Amino acid sequence: MTLALRDPDLFRVDAYIGGEFVSSILRATVRDPATGDVIAEVARCGKFETRHAIEAADDALPAWRALPARKRADVLHKLAALMEEHVDDLALLLTSEQGKPLAESRGEVRYAASFLTWFAEEAPRVYGDTIPSPVSGTRLMVIPQPVGVCAAITPWNFPSAMITRKLGPALATGCTLVLKPAEATPLSALALAVLSQRAGVPPGVFNVVTGAANDASVIGAVLTSDPRVRKLSFTGSTEVGKLLLRQCASTVKKVSLELGGNAPFIVFDDADLSEAIRGAMTAKFRNAGQTCIAANRILVQDGVHDEFVSALRAEIDKLVVGPGTEPSVTMGPLLERNGFDKVASHVEDACSRGAELIVGGGAHDLGGTFFQPTLLTGVRHGMLMSSEETFGPVAGITRFTSEEEAITLANDTPAGLAAYFYARDVGRVVRVSEALDYGMVGANTGFVSTTVAPFGGMKESGLGREGSKFGIEDWIERKYVALAF
Ligand code: ADP
Repeated sequence: MTLALRDPDLFRVDAYIGGEFVSSILRATVRDPATGDVIAEVARCGKFETRHAIEAADDALPAWRALPARKRADVLHKLAALMEEHVDDLALLLTSEQGKPLAESRGEVRYAASFLTWFAEEAPRVYGDTIPSPVSGTRLMVIPQPVGVCAAITPWNFPSAMITRKLGPALATGCTLVLKPAEATPLSALALAVLSQRAGVPPGVFNVVTGAANDASVIGAVLTSDPRVRKLSFTGSTEVGKLLLRQCASTVKKVSLELGGNAPFIVFDDADLSEAIRGAMTAKFRNAGQTCIAANRILVQDGVHDEFVSALRAEIDKLVVGPGTEPSVTMGPLLERNGFDKVASHVEDACSRGAELIVGGGAHDLGGTFFQPTLLTGVRHGMLMSSEETFGPVAGITRFTSEEEAITLANDTPAGLAAYFYARDVGRVVRVSEALDYGMVGANTGFVSTTVAPFGGMKESGLGREGSKFGIEDWIERKYVALAF
Protein backbone atom coordinates (compact mmCIF):
# COMPACT_ATOMS: atom_id res chain seq x y z
CA MET A 1 0.00 0.00 0.00
CA THR A 2 1.33 3.46 -0.83
CA LEU A 3 0.18 6.60 0.88
CA ALA A 4 -0.86 9.51 -1.29
CA LEU A 5 1.65 12.03 0.04
CA ARG A 6 2.26 15.33 -1.73
CA ASP A 7 5.92 14.95 -0.80
CA PRO A 8 6.65 11.21 -1.08
CA ASP A 9 10.15 11.79 0.30
CA LEU A 10 8.60 12.08 3.77
CA PHE A 11 7.81 8.37 3.71
CA ARG A 12 10.95 6.68 5.05
CA VAL A 13 11.50 3.18 6.34
CA ASP A 14 15.17 3.21 7.34
CA ALA A 15 16.72 4.24 10.63
CA TYR A 16 18.32 7.70 10.79
CA ILE A 17 21.82 7.67 12.24
CA GLY A 18 24.57 10.28 11.90
CA GLY A 19 22.61 12.20 9.28
CA GLU A 20 22.02 9.18 7.04
CA PHE A 21 19.18 6.77 6.49
CA VAL A 22 20.56 3.35 7.35
CA SER A 23 18.98 0.18 6.01
CA SER A 24 18.90 -3.26 7.59
CA ILE A 25 18.09 -6.74 6.31
CA LEU A 26 15.68 -7.45 9.15
CA ARG A 27 12.46 -5.46 8.88
CA ALA A 28 9.60 -4.67 11.26
CA THR A 29 6.04 -4.48 9.99
CA VAL A 30 3.94 -1.36 10.46
CA ARG A 31 0.19 -1.77 10.02
CA ASP A 32 -2.75 0.58 9.53
CA PRO A 33 -4.93 -0.09 12.59
CA ALA A 34 -8.10 0.74 10.61
CA THR A 35 -7.55 -1.97 7.99
CA GLY A 36 -4.82 -4.23 9.34
CA ASP A 37 -2.94 -3.64 6.07
CA VAL A 38 0.85 -3.49 6.08
CA ILE A 39 1.90 0.07 5.30
CA ALA A 40 5.65 -0.18 5.82
CA GLU A 41 8.53 -2.49 6.66
CA VAL A 42 10.96 -0.44 8.71
CA ALA A 43 14.54 -1.18 9.69
CA ARG A 44 15.10 -3.27 12.79
CA CYS A 45 17.87 -1.85 14.94
CA GLY A 46 19.70 -3.75 17.64
CA LYS A 47 22.71 -3.22 19.89
CA PHE A 48 25.06 -2.34 17.06
CA GLU A 49 22.85 0.34 15.49
CA THR A 50 21.99 1.82 18.87
CA ARG A 51 25.66 2.12 19.81
CA HIS A 52 26.33 3.61 16.40
CA ALA A 53 23.61 6.23 17.04
CA ILE A 54 25.03 7.08 20.49
CA GLU A 55 28.46 7.46 18.92
CA ALA A 56 27.04 9.80 16.27
CA ALA A 57 25.28 11.86 18.96
CA ASP A 58 28.46 11.99 21.01
CA ASP A 59 30.55 13.11 18.01
CA ALA A 60 28.02 15.82 17.14
CA LEU A 61 27.78 17.17 20.69
CA PRO A 62 30.82 19.52 20.91
CA ALA A 63 29.95 21.58 17.82
CA TRP A 64 26.22 21.69 18.56
CA ARG A 65 26.57 22.81 22.18
CA ALA A 66 29.15 25.41 21.13
CA LEU A 67 26.70 27.16 18.79
CA PRO A 68 25.14 30.35 20.11
CA ALA A 69 21.67 29.55 21.43
CA ARG A 70 20.15 31.90 18.85
CA LYS A 71 21.62 29.78 16.03
CA ARG A 72 20.14 26.61 17.49
CA ALA A 73 16.85 28.47 17.83
CA ASP A 74 16.95 29.37 14.13
CA VAL A 75 17.18 25.69 13.22
CA LEU A 76 14.27 24.82 15.52
CA HIS A 77 12.16 27.61 14.01
CA LYS A 78 12.92 26.25 10.55
CA LEU A 79 11.92 22.75 11.58
CA ALA A 80 8.64 24.01 13.07
CA ALA A 81 7.90 25.91 9.85
CA LEU A 82 8.55 22.79 7.77
CA MET A 83 6.14 20.80 9.95
CA GLU A 84 3.48 23.46 9.38
CA GLU A 85 4.18 23.44 5.64
CA HIS A 86 3.79 19.66 5.47
CA VAL A 87 0.97 19.35 7.98
CA ASP A 88 -1.31 17.40 5.61
CA ASP A 89 1.29 14.79 4.72
CA LEU A 90 2.42 14.43 8.33
CA ALA A 91 -1.21 14.05 9.44
CA LEU A 92 -1.85 11.38 6.83
CA LEU A 93 1.23 9.43 7.93
CA LEU A 94 0.11 9.79 11.54
CA THR A 95 -3.46 8.63 10.92
CA SER A 96 -2.26 5.74 8.78
CA GLU A 97 -0.02 4.31 11.49
CA GLN A 98 -2.01 5.36 14.58
CA GLY A 99 -5.67 5.48 13.56
CA LYS A 100 -6.90 8.80 14.97
CA PRO A 101 -9.13 11.00 12.76
CA LEU A 102 -7.26 13.25 10.35
CA ALA A 103 -8.51 16.40 12.10
CA GLU A 104 -6.97 15.17 15.37
CA SER A 105 -3.75 14.27 13.54
CA ARG A 106 -3.52 17.75 12.03
CA GLY A 107 -4.06 19.17 15.50
CA GLU A 108 -1.33 16.95 16.89
CA VAL A 109 1.19 17.93 14.20
CA ARG A 110 0.56 21.62 14.93
CA TYR A 111 0.82 20.94 18.66
CA ALA A 112 4.08 19.06 17.98
CA ALA A 113 5.49 21.97 15.98
CA SER A 114 4.53 24.38 18.75
CA PHE A 115 7.02 22.69 21.12
CA LEU A 116 9.82 23.44 18.65
CA THR A 117 8.75 27.07 18.39
CA TRP A 118 8.36 27.41 22.15
CA PHE A 119 11.80 25.97 22.92
CA ALA A 120 13.37 27.97 20.09
CA GLU A 121 12.09 31.02 21.98
CA GLU A 122 13.35 29.68 25.31
CA ALA A 123 16.82 28.79 23.96
CA PRO A 124 18.35 32.28 24.23
CA ARG A 125 16.83 32.77 27.69
CA VAL A 126 18.46 29.97 29.65
CA TYR A 127 20.02 32.20 32.27
CA GLY A 128 22.62 31.53 34.93
CA ASP A 129 23.20 33.30 38.26
CA THR A 130 25.88 35.20 40.12
CA ILE A 131 25.75 34.60 43.88
CA PRO A 132 26.99 37.28 46.32
CA SER A 133 30.05 35.69 47.91
CA PRO A 134 30.45 35.41 51.71
CA VAL A 135 34.19 36.16 51.34
CA SER A 136 35.99 38.87 49.44
CA GLY A 137 38.14 38.10 46.42
CA THR A 138 35.80 35.50 44.98
CA ARG A 139 33.00 35.36 42.46
CA LEU A 140 30.44 32.57 42.65
CA MET A 141 28.73 31.77 39.39
CA VAL A 142 26.13 29.27 38.29
CA ILE A 143 26.27 28.48 34.60
CA PRO A 144 23.70 26.40 32.71
CA GLN A 145 25.17 23.75 30.41
CA PRO A 146 23.51 21.07 28.28
CA VAL A 147 23.27 17.64 29.91
CA GLY A 148 24.96 16.07 26.86
CA VAL A 149 23.91 13.06 24.82
CA CYS A 150 20.29 12.20 25.66
CA ALA A 151 17.98 9.32 24.86
CA ALA A 152 14.23 9.49 24.28
CA ILE A 153 11.77 6.61 24.18
CA THR A 154 8.27 7.54 23.04
CA PRO A 155 4.81 5.93 22.82
CA TRP A 156 2.38 5.41 19.95
CA ASN A 157 -0.60 7.43 21.16
CA PHE A 158 0.90 10.79 20.14
CA PRO A 159 3.55 9.72 17.59
CA SER A 160 4.61 13.28 16.75
CA ALA A 161 4.02 15.50 19.80
CA MET A 162 5.67 13.15 22.31
CA ILE A 163 8.84 13.40 20.23
CA THR A 164 9.02 17.17 19.78
CA ARG A 165 8.23 17.76 23.46
CA LYS A 166 11.65 16.15 24.06
CA LEU A 167 13.45 17.13 20.85
CA GLY A 168 12.62 20.83 21.34
CA PRO A 169 14.28 21.34 24.75
CA ALA A 170 17.11 18.92 23.88
CA LEU A 171 18.14 20.86 20.80
CA ALA A 172 17.45 24.25 22.37
CA THR A 173 19.82 23.61 25.27
CA GLY A 174 22.60 22.12 23.12
CA CYS A 175 22.02 18.42 23.84
CA THR A 176 22.03 15.76 21.12
CA LEU A 177 19.39 13.04 20.98
CA VAL A 178 18.90 9.38 20.15
CA LEU A 179 15.21 8.61 19.76
CA LYS A 180 13.52 5.24 19.87
CA PRO A 181 9.94 5.78 18.69
CA ALA A 182 7.20 3.23 19.41
CA GLU A 183 7.34 0.21 17.11
CA ALA A 184 3.76 0.83 15.95
CA THR A 185 4.39 4.43 14.86
CA PRO A 186 7.88 4.96 13.44
CA LEU A 187 6.75 6.77 10.27
CA SER A 188 6.01 10.10 11.97
CA ALA A 189 9.44 9.97 13.61
CA LEU A 190 11.21 9.22 10.34
CA ALA A 191 9.35 12.00 8.52
CA LEU A 192 10.53 14.32 11.26
CA ALA A 193 14.09 13.11 10.62
CA VAL A 194 13.73 14.09 6.93
CA LEU A 195 12.49 17.54 7.91
CA SER A 196 15.28 17.93 10.48
CA GLN A 197 17.79 17.33 7.70
CA ARG A 198 16.11 20.00 5.57
CA ALA A 199 16.01 22.40 8.50
CA GLY A 200 19.77 22.12 8.94
CA VAL A 201 19.98 20.00 12.08
CA PRO A 202 23.58 18.76 11.76
CA PRO A 203 24.29 15.02 11.30
CA GLY A 204 24.25 13.14 14.60
CA VAL A 205 22.35 15.81 16.54
CA PHE A 206 19.07 13.90 16.07
CA ASN A 207 19.05 10.14 15.48
CA VAL A 208 16.15 7.72 15.15
CA VAL A 209 16.53 4.00 15.87
CA THR A 210 13.51 1.95 14.82
CA GLY A 211 12.63 -1.65 15.52
CA ALA A 212 10.05 -4.33 16.20
CA ALA A 213 8.45 -4.89 19.60
CA ASN A 214 11.11 -7.47 20.43
CA ASP A 215 13.88 -4.95 19.81
CA ALA A 216 12.63 -2.43 22.38
CA SER A 217 14.29 -4.07 25.38
CA VAL A 218 17.57 -4.52 23.46
CA ILE A 219 17.67 -0.88 22.32
CA GLY A 220 16.52 0.23 25.77
CA ALA A 221 19.26 -1.76 27.50
CA VAL A 222 21.97 -0.04 25.42
CA LEU A 223 20.47 3.44 25.84
CA THR A 224 20.18 3.04 29.62
CA SER A 225 23.62 1.48 30.22
CA ASP A 226 25.95 3.39 27.89
CA PRO A 227 27.88 5.91 30.03
CA ARG A 228 27.90 8.44 27.18
CA VAL A 229 24.14 8.85 27.48
CA ARG A 230 23.57 11.29 30.35
CA LYS A 231 19.81 11.46 30.37
CA LEU A 232 16.76 9.42 29.47
CA SER A 233 13.38 10.98 28.77
CA PHE A 234 10.62 8.40 28.57
CA THR A 235 6.89 8.60 27.92
CA GLY A 236 4.97 5.34 28.21
CA SER A 237 3.62 2.80 30.64
CA THR A 238 4.39 2.90 34.35
CA GLU A 239 5.68 -0.67 34.20
CA VAL A 240 8.30 0.06 31.52
CA GLY A 241 9.12 3.41 33.16
CA LYS A 242 10.01 1.68 36.42
CA LEU A 243 12.17 -0.81 34.56
CA LEU A 244 14.05 1.94 32.72
CA LEU A 245 14.51 3.90 35.95
CA ARG A 246 16.13 0.83 37.51
CA GLN A 247 18.32 0.33 34.43
CA CYS A 248 19.45 3.96 34.51
CA ALA A 249 20.58 3.58 38.12
CA SER A 250 23.75 1.74 37.09
CA THR A 251 25.18 4.85 35.43
CA VAL A 252 23.13 7.40 37.46
CA LYS A 253 21.52 9.11 34.50
CA LYS A 254 19.10 11.95 34.83
CA VAL A 255 15.65 10.50 34.19
CA SER A 256 12.44 12.21 33.13
CA LEU A 257 9.35 10.01 33.12
CA GLU A 258 5.83 10.68 31.93
CA LEU A 259 3.92 7.53 32.83
CA GLY A 260 0.38 6.24 33.13
CA GLY A 261 -2.47 8.08 34.77
CA ASN A 262 -5.84 7.15 36.23
CA ALA A 263 -7.59 10.49 35.90
CA PRO A 264 -10.66 11.19 37.99
CA PHE A 265 -13.30 13.42 36.38
CA ILE A 266 -15.55 14.77 39.13
CA VAL A 267 -18.90 16.43 38.51
CA PHE A 268 -20.34 18.20 41.56
CA ASP A 269 -23.99 19.13 42.06
CA ASP A 270 -23.22 22.80 41.36
CA ALA A 271 -21.44 22.13 38.04
CA ASP A 272 -22.42 23.73 34.75
CA LEU A 273 -23.67 20.45 33.31
CA SER A 274 -23.44 21.28 29.64
CA GLU A 275 -19.81 22.35 30.13
CA ALA A 276 -19.15 19.17 32.13
CA ILE A 277 -20.56 17.04 29.31
CA ARG A 278 -18.42 18.87 26.75
CA GLY A 279 -15.35 18.36 28.94
CA ALA A 280 -16.13 14.70 29.54
CA MET A 281 -16.42 14.01 25.81
CA THR A 282 -12.99 15.58 25.20
CA ALA A 283 -11.30 14.04 28.22
CA LYS A 284 -12.78 10.61 27.56
CA PHE A 285 -13.15 10.08 23.82
CA ARG A 286 -10.31 12.07 22.23
CA ASN A 287 -7.96 9.60 20.50
CA ALA A 288 -10.55 6.87 21.30
CA GLY A 289 -9.62 7.21 24.97
CA GLN A 290 -5.99 6.29 24.33
CA THR A 291 -4.33 9.10 26.25
CA CYS A 292 -2.54 9.03 29.58
CA ILE A 293 -4.64 11.99 30.73
CA ALA A 294 -7.95 10.41 29.63
CA ALA A 295 -10.78 10.62 32.18
CA ASN A 296 -10.66 7.10 33.62
CA ARG A 297 -13.07 7.40 36.54
CA ILE A 298 -16.09 9.65 36.13
CA LEU A 299 -17.42 10.50 39.58
CA VAL A 300 -20.83 12.20 39.62
CA GLN A 301 -22.64 13.62 42.65
CA ASP A 302 -26.12 12.29 43.54
CA GLY A 303 -28.06 15.44 42.64
CA VAL A 304 -26.97 15.55 38.97
CA HIS A 305 -26.18 11.89 38.36
CA ASP A 306 -29.19 10.89 36.25
CA GLU A 307 -29.26 14.09 34.23
CA PHE A 308 -25.51 13.81 33.53
CA VAL A 309 -25.81 10.18 32.42
CA SER A 310 -28.62 10.84 29.95
CA ALA A 311 -26.91 13.93 28.52
CA LEU A 312 -23.61 12.07 28.15
CA ARG A 313 -25.38 9.21 26.42
CA ALA A 314 -26.88 11.66 23.91
CA GLU A 315 -23.41 12.98 23.06
CA ILE A 316 -21.91 9.49 22.81
CA ASP A 317 -24.62 8.58 20.30
CA LYS A 318 -23.32 11.38 18.06
CA LEU A 319 -19.80 9.89 17.76
CA VAL A 320 -19.00 8.64 14.27
CA VAL A 321 -16.75 5.58 14.39
CA GLY A 322 -14.67 4.62 11.37
CA PRO A 323 -11.29 4.87 9.64
CA GLY A 324 -9.57 8.12 10.61
CA THR A 325 -9.01 9.02 6.97
CA GLU A 326 -12.76 9.53 6.38
CA PRO A 327 -13.64 13.19 6.98
CA SER A 328 -16.87 12.57 8.91
CA VAL A 329 -15.25 10.21 11.40
CA THR A 330 -14.77 11.46 14.97
CA MET A 331 -13.42 8.27 16.55
CA GLY A 332 -10.98 5.79 15.00
CA PRO A 333 -10.02 2.22 15.91
CA LEU A 334 -7.94 1.16 18.87
CA LEU A 335 -4.31 0.76 17.95
CA GLU A 336 -3.91 -2.95 18.56
CA ARG A 337 -5.54 -6.20 19.60
CA ASN A 338 -3.98 -6.25 23.10
CA GLY A 339 -5.46 -2.86 23.83
CA PHE A 340 -8.83 -3.97 22.49
CA ASP A 341 -8.79 -7.08 24.71
CA LYS A 342 -7.94 -5.00 27.77
CA VAL A 343 -10.81 -2.59 27.14
CA ALA A 344 -13.22 -5.52 26.61
CA SER A 345 -12.03 -7.19 29.81
CA HIS A 346 -12.63 -4.00 31.81
CA VAL A 347 -16.21 -3.82 30.54
CA GLU A 348 -16.82 -7.51 31.26
CA ASP A 349 -15.36 -7.22 34.75
CA ALA A 350 -17.56 -4.21 35.57
CA CYS A 351 -20.73 -5.84 34.20
CA SER A 352 -20.07 -9.10 36.02
CA ARG A 353 -19.73 -7.15 39.26
CA GLY A 354 -22.95 -5.18 39.03
CA ALA A 355 -22.33 -2.23 36.69
CA GLU A 356 -25.12 -1.41 34.25
CA LEU A 357 -24.39 -1.11 30.55
CA ILE A 358 -26.13 1.94 29.08
CA VAL A 359 -24.71 1.86 25.55
CA GLY A 360 -21.96 0.09 23.59
CA GLY A 361 -20.01 -2.56 25.44
CA GLY A 362 -17.95 -4.43 22.86
CA ALA A 363 -16.67 -4.85 19.34
CA HIS A 364 -18.02 -2.43 16.75
CA ASP A 365 -19.67 -3.78 13.58
CA LEU A 366 -16.68 -2.51 11.60
CA GLY A 367 -14.64 -5.35 13.11
CA GLY A 368 -10.89 -5.29 13.63
CA THR A 369 -9.98 -3.19 16.64
CA PHE A 370 -12.94 -0.81 16.37
CA PHE A 371 -14.64 -0.62 19.77
CA GLN A 372 -18.08 0.81 20.45
CA PRO A 373 -18.20 4.03 22.44
CA THR A 374 -19.42 2.71 25.76
CA LEU A 375 -21.21 4.07 28.81
CA LEU A 376 -21.66 2.23 32.12
CA THR A 377 -23.20 3.27 35.41
CA GLY A 378 -22.79 1.73 38.84
CA VAL A 379 -19.04 1.46 38.48
CA ARG A 380 -17.46 0.99 41.89
CA HIS A 381 -14.05 1.52 43.38
CA GLY A 382 -12.09 -1.73 43.09
CA MET A 383 -13.39 -2.75 39.67
CA LEU A 384 -10.66 -3.14 37.03
CA MET A 385 -11.74 -0.01 35.18
CA SER A 386 -11.36 2.06 38.35
CA SER A 387 -7.99 0.71 39.38
CA GLU A 388 -6.29 0.45 35.96
CA GLU A 389 -6.03 2.73 32.94
CA THR A 390 -8.66 1.46 30.47
CA PHE A 391 -7.09 3.30 27.49
CA GLY A 392 -10.25 3.01 25.44
CA PRO A 393 -13.62 4.65 24.69
CA VAL A 394 -15.37 3.49 27.85
CA ALA A 395 -16.98 5.96 30.25
CA GLY A 396 -17.71 4.37 33.63
CA ILE A 397 -19.80 6.42 36.06
CA THR A 398 -19.43 6.19 39.84
CA ARG A 399 -22.00 7.93 42.04
CA PHE A 400 -20.87 9.83 45.14
CA THR A 401 -22.51 11.90 47.89
CA SER A 402 -20.06 14.32 49.54
CA GLU A 403 -17.07 16.43 48.52
CA GLU A 404 -14.83 14.56 50.99
CA GLU A 405 -15.89 11.23 49.53
CA ALA A 406 -15.07 12.43 46.00
CA ILE A 407 -11.60 13.62 47.00
CA THR A 408 -10.84 10.41 48.88
CA LEU A 409 -11.93 8.30 45.89
CA ALA A 410 -10.04 10.53 43.45
CA ASN A 411 -6.75 10.31 45.36
CA ASP A 412 -6.96 6.60 46.15
CA THR A 413 -4.57 5.49 43.38
CA PRO A 414 -0.80 5.28 42.95
CA ALA A 415 -1.16 7.45 39.82
CA GLY A 416 -1.13 11.25 39.88
CA LEU A 417 -1.07 12.64 36.35
CA ALA A 418 -4.24 14.60 35.47
CA ALA A 419 -7.53 15.20 37.27
CA TYR A 420 -10.63 17.16 36.27
CA PHE A 421 -13.56 18.57 38.18
CA TYR A 422 -16.60 20.73 37.55
CA ALA A 423 -18.05 23.02 40.24
CA ARG A 424 -19.16 26.64 40.45
CA ASP A 425 -18.84 27.35 44.18
CA VAL A 426 -15.59 29.32 44.41
CA GLY A 427 -14.64 27.89 47.81
CA ARG A 428 -15.08 24.38 46.49
CA VAL A 429 -13.04 25.17 43.36
CA VAL A 430 -10.11 26.28 45.51
CA ARG A 431 -10.45 23.43 48.04
CA VAL A 432 -10.68 20.68 45.43
CA SER A 433 -7.91 22.12 43.21
CA GLU A 434 -5.56 22.03 46.17
CA ALA A 435 -6.67 18.66 47.57
CA LEU A 436 -6.18 16.62 44.39
CA ASP A 437 -2.80 14.80 44.36
CA TYR A 438 -2.22 15.32 40.67
CA GLY A 439 0.38 17.11 38.55
CA MET A 440 -2.34 18.71 36.40
CA VAL A 441 -5.86 19.72 37.35
CA GLY A 442 -8.56 20.87 34.94
CA ALA A 443 -11.05 22.96 36.91
CA ASN A 444 -14.14 23.37 34.73
CA THR A 445 -12.25 22.18 31.66
CA GLY A 446 -11.55 18.78 30.15
CA PHE A 447 -8.50 19.93 28.24
CA VAL A 448 -5.22 20.73 30.00
CA SER A 449 -2.58 20.08 27.32
CA THR A 450 -0.76 23.16 26.08
CA THR A 451 2.82 23.88 25.17
CA VAL A 452 3.05 26.78 27.58
CA ALA A 453 2.10 24.91 30.80
CA PRO A 454 4.06 22.21 32.65
CA PHE A 455 2.94 18.70 31.74
CA GLY A 456 3.80 15.92 34.19
CA GLY A 457 2.72 13.80 37.08
CA MET A 458 3.05 13.19 40.79
CA LYS A 459 3.42 9.84 42.59
CA GLU A 460 3.90 6.92 40.17
CA SER A 461 2.93 9.01 37.15
CA GLY A 462 6.40 10.34 36.68
CA LEU A 463 9.36 12.58 37.27
CA GLY A 464 9.91 16.05 35.85
CA ARG A 465 7.82 18.37 33.71
CA GLU A 466 7.66 18.87 29.94
CA GLY A 467 6.74 21.99 27.98
CA SER A 468 6.54 25.50 29.49
CA LYS A 469 9.47 27.44 30.97
CA PHE A 470 9.94 24.58 33.46
CA GLY A 471 10.48 22.02 30.70
CA ILE A 472 13.96 23.31 29.91
CA GLU A 473 15.33 22.55 33.38
CA ASP A 474 15.51 18.75 32.93
CA TRP A 475 17.88 19.19 29.97
CA ILE A 476 20.51 21.35 31.66
CA GLU A 477 23.12 20.95 34.37
CA ARG A 478 23.64 23.95 36.62
CA LYS A 479 27.37 24.11 37.12
CA TYR A 480 28.72 26.16 40.01
CA VAL A 481 32.05 27.91 39.45
CA ALA A 482 33.90 29.42 42.44
CA LEU A 483 36.35 31.94 41.05
CA ALA A 484 39.03 33.40 43.31
CA PHE A 485 41.02 36.43 42.16
P1 ADP B 1 2.34 1.43 25.75
O1 ADP B 1 1.54 0.63 26.70
O2 ADP B 1 1.88 2.81 25.53
O3 ADP B 1 2.71 0.70 24.49
P2 ADP B 1 5.03 1.00 26.60
O4 ADP B 1 5.63 1.50 27.85
O5 ADP B 1 4.97 -0.48 26.37
O6 ADP B 1 3.63 1.71 26.53
O7 ADP B 1 5.76 1.62 25.34
C1 ADP B 1 6.26 2.92 25.30
C2 ADP B 1 7.61 2.91 24.61
O8 ADP B 1 8.48 2.10 25.40
C3 ADP B 1 7.60 2.27 23.22
O9 ADP B 1 8.53 2.98 22.41
C4 ADP B 1 8.11 0.87 23.48
O10 ADP B 1 8.74 0.28 22.36
C5 ADP B 1 9.11 1.14 24.57
N1 ADP B 1 9.46 -0.04 25.39
C6 ADP B 1 8.67 -1.05 25.78
N2 ADP B 1 9.37 -1.93 26.53
C7 ADP B 1 10.65 -1.44 26.62
C8 ADP B 1 11.85 -1.89 27.25
N3 ADP B 1 11.89 -3.02 27.95
N4 ADP B 1 12.95 -1.12 27.13
C9 ADP B 1 12.92 0.03 26.41
N5 ADP B 1 11.83 0.48 25.80
C10 ADP B 1 10.70 -0.23 25.89
